[in-house]
Amino acid sequence: MNPITKNHTAVLQHLQRTLPAECLITDGAGLRPYETDGLTAIREMPWVVVLPETEAQVVDVMAICRQHGVPVIPRGAGTGLSGGARPHKDGVVLGLSKMNKILSIDPDNRVAQVQPGVRNLAISNAAKPHGLYYAPDPSSQIACSIGGNVAENAGGVHCLKYGLTVHNVLGVRVLTSDGDVMEIGGALYDNPGLDMLALLCGSEGMLGIVTQVTVALLPEPEKKSVILAGFKQVTDAGNAVASIIGAGIIPAGMEMMDKLAVQAAEQFAHAGYPLDAAAILIIELDGAEAELSAVTAQVIDHLNASGAYQIDQADDAETQARLWKGRKSAFPAVGRLSPDYICMDGTIPRHQLAHVLTQIDELSERFGLAVANVFHAADGNLHPLILFDANVPGQTDHAMAMGGEILQCCVAAGGTVTGEHGIGVEKLDTMCVQFTSDELDQFFRIKDAMDPSGVLNPGKGIPTLTRCGELGGMHVHKGRLPFPELERF
Ligand SMILES: Cc1cc2nc3c(=O)[nH]c(=O)nc-3n(C[C@H](O)[C@H](O)[C@H](O)COP(=O)(O)OP(=O)(O)OC[C@H]3O[C@@H](n4cnc5c(N)ncnc54)[C@H](O)[C@@H]3O)c2cc1C
Repeated sequence: MNPITKNHTAVLQHLQRTLPAECLITDGAGLRPYETDGLTAIREMPWVVVLPETEAQVVDVMAICRQHGVPVIPRGAGTGLSGGARPHKDGVVLGLSKMNKILSIDPDNRVAQVQPGVRNLAISNAAKPHGLYYAPDPSSQIACSIGGNVAENAGGVHCLKYGLTVHNVLGVRVLTSDGDVMEIGGALYDNPGLDMLALLCGSEGMLGIVTQVTVALLPEPEKKSVILAGFKQVTDAGNAVASIIGAGIIPAGMEMMDKLAVQAAEQFAHAGYPLDAAAILIIELDGAEAELSAVTAQVIDHLNASGAYQIDQADDAETQARLWKGRKSAFPAVGRLSPDYICMDGTIPRHQLAHVLTQIDELSERFGLAVANVFHAADGNLHPLILFDANVPGQTDHAMAMGGEILQCCVAAGGTVTGEHGIGVEKLDTMCVQFTSDELDQFFRIKDAMDPSGVLNPGKGIPTLTRCGELGGMHVHKGRLPFPELERF
């Protein structure tokens, strides 16, 4: 039996009785902005969008959806790049954007309590008067929500030194599909019991709805130094990364961009990047003034020894911001090169950088689609941007197929199918490559335990036995999905 309710009218009436009118969207024009997230190649109009303002309203919506067997798709700011917040035509999109209050900042204990819809950057802005900030900084930080960051275990430029979301979140309040509100973790740095917090970070809205987050705040560094280095060979840039990390230096961030990305970013941001470089590195060092100049000199030595032909170093905030501007605007800049692009996200061991980049070049030639590479080099977290035109029949599928092959190269090189953007719907197939049937089955068991009715973001994150079986090459696993049709998109 298809458990998706056919009783739409009753569900809608129930929602209308429960929520104020301004918290419910049902008309076509109002629903349109919710038909996709940042993975714009995949779209579907939702049936209904609800925008609760309180946790109590979230509990009520969850109860109605559970009672009627309606899928619930949690959504923060919709900047996700793997289709995690992709709606369903019979489902309720549960937008958390109105729950956007910073509840408290505690400078003595360096923690902040915030609602899930608070924007990532808003936390650092609120903490700034206390000389504090929230470290994980996805490039989307001006827009993305902390609830979405927890659900995706978001990373960013500074995760090399300061860790991912999971390392900077101390506690969450979570609503399960059964209607239980759980307090997981707290304001302390260690908690007894199973590490449910780690489980929830990266659970992509499939295990619970995050209704409150307690984050750790860090003191702003005394001083920063930003270095731009240009290389004539991509392999030299890769070797420079290995050499700096191998020497025990952990920069705050170390980013690489290839020629196409540099050219797009330079035209867009006028950051002063060398247009003849095959690759550039942007390196940020931070810390106490007393040690920073010595570490900066060491890094410059490594860059010279690795063959950098241009090195610019900036101590002043204005030049530093200019050097970062190109990297931070690289995605929209690349977006000007072609009508559409898909941003892939895979992770590889650092020493495989040159090898995998060569394979990506070969795939680009075979598929006839250009690729710009912008990535967190020291984490081995690649972001190949595949350029295509969705108006050309079949080209979206072609680009998605190429993305799948790139991720398979990452797995073959000893890496993973995601670094920070999650699985969503985009990477379901490559999950079949990465995990065994038994491992996938365990994922389903955990989902079943926390979401027995199966209404929370179904069809995301974990591929079913049918899907992996159709792809071949793996044993059928026992995992099941209450809404099998949701895996088709
Ligand atoms: C230009 C650009 C740059 C980016 N750069 C980075 C980067 O550097 N690093 C990085 O990690 N990501 C990056 N991203 C991806 C994206 O911004 C992150 O994944 C972010 O964490 C998503 O947050 P969101 O609020 O937009 O979530 P959404 O896209 O709305 O949702 C993402 C997932 O979280 C779930 N979810 C959302 N809110 C909740 C909640 N309260 N409770 C439970 N589940 C929830 C959704 O169901 C979905 O599965 C980038 C995206 C863009 C467009």
